[in-house]
Amino acid sequence: LFGAERANSEGPDMNDKAALQHLHQAIQQSRNVNYLAAPLIGGKQGSGASSRPVCSPANQREVVGQVIEASVADVSTAMAVAQAAFPAWESTPAATRAAALDAAADLMQERLPELVALIVREGGRIQVDAVSEVREAIDFCRYYAAQAKEKFAAPIELPGPTGERNSLSLHGRGVFVCISPWNFPLAIFVGQVAAALAAGNTVLAKPAEQTPLVAALAVGMLHSAGIPAHVLAFLPGDGRVGAAMVAARECAGVAFTGSTEVARIIARTLAAKDGPLVPLIAETGGQNALIADSSALPEQVVRDVVASAFNSAGQRCSALRVLFVQADIAERVSTMLAGAMQELRIGDPADLRTDVGPVIDEAARKVLVAHASWLDSFAKPLYTCALDERATSHGSFFAPCAYEIDSLSRLEREVFGPILHIVRWRGEDLDKVCDAIASTGYGLTLGIHSRIEDTVRRITARLHVGNTYVNRNVIGAVVGVQPFGGEGLSGTGPKAGGPHYLYRFASERTLSVDT
Ligand code: GLU
Repeated sequence: LFGAERANSEGPDMNDKAALQHLHQAIQQSRNVNYLAAPLIGGKQGSGASSRPVCSPANQREVVGQVIEASVADVSTAMAVAQAAFPAWESTPAATRAAALDAAADLMQERLPELVALIVREGGRIQVDAVSEVREAIDFCRYYAAQAKEKFAAPIELPGPTGERNSLSLHGRGVFVCISPWNFPLAIFVGQVAAALAAGNTVLAKPAEQTPLVAALAVGMLHSAGIPAHVLAFLPGDGRVGAAMVAARECAGVAFTGSTEVARIIARTLAAKDGPLVPLIAETGGQNALIADSSALPEQVVRDVVASAFNSAGQRCSALRVLFVQADIAERVSTMLAGAMQELRIGDPADLRTDVGPVIDEAARKVLVAHASWLDSFAKPLYTCALDERATSHGSFFAPCAYEIDSLSRLEREVFGPILHIVRWRGEDLDKVCDAIASTGYGLTLGIHSRIEDTVRRITARLHVGNTYVNRNVIGAVVGVQPFGGEGLSGTGPKAGGPHYLYRFASERTLSVDT
């Protein structure tokens, strides 16, 4: 699994005209479908609490589909159904569970254009990001399927004294609650669910409020691929639905990706419950930094900073928030960065020429506007991209911008969008830079641009960060290649798409027999 025998999925060649045409057609065709996301329990539609249209963040007049949100009663029913289905699923051979996930991956590969279309329209992600996201979802299914076959199929024999046989086996824990975010509406949703299922759990899955439609499509594919209806329930809704899922007596584990604040609320709810102690796997935010020293190549720094800070409109938890640039090259980097930002095209995510799509909704846009006007009160603006009125007036668009600030200590928390902060530092202050980054308490991604090995060593020894990237960008972790997830305020681990992830979804049992 660590070596060459495992391969990541392939997507369409984004330089091939025919492939692009195919994606374009899929987007057009999806406009003729009225997608529906409804609570699904044991294969039947739940009663639901309320329904509403789901609109595209790029154009609020474009209705992508409808969502029927789950009621609290749906959560109780789904819990009971999933609890009853658990023993049979847990005792299903790992190879059979894995085969269903592999089949789901094949279906996603076949229907990649339709999934891309929904990610673009519902999630506002540009086409290249959407393609990578479908590939990541496919990779998660195959990777966890392979891990289940390797680790869950048979007990591991352990040594012992003569006359004693010892073994260690892995088991599903029960009903797992999966709560996922809108920024990777397919990949993170599918990743959590696939891991929980592979490990032998039954699942209640709640997609983000903003992006239920593509998640509903994925659930349909998982069921068609052989995941039994009673084993996976789908419960779209807002935080109230998530809270009811976490608080339920049957909940045996939670996988959550979202804000640090919500992770803490979940942890408190779990801690306050009677009954078994329930694990939480939380992947949260970051105040991600990139340190560039004077040995770095400014052209490369700028290329990687632009990708890291502005790709996906900065709406990745891996995204770069603060660039620390050594004073000697700061002027050159700033000038080139402003020039590169001038070239960014903001607009319709379905248009291939677009570099930066919308932010997810008006609430997100308002937070960014407020943060930028706060920066305007003291920071030195470097550049703000232009918004083309015609392309952006009906959506939630926010112009990427960069500001120079004098110190990181002004930034208390992560702001989720395309706002880059730049801090200049002098050569003798590298330790202070590291201290400032460490003092944020986050530890998700870190970039280093330097040709000096000792500098790289000093920084990596000092900073405790989940994913460090040297002389490249800091986004786009690949399943099985850069297992993803942080520490401190950034999450509990283990890393998604890594060899230890499934263990946290499982119970371990030993058996010792005197012969
Ligand atoms: N894994 C993604 C990346 O490396 C980020 C996931 C997230 O934003 O939650 O860019």
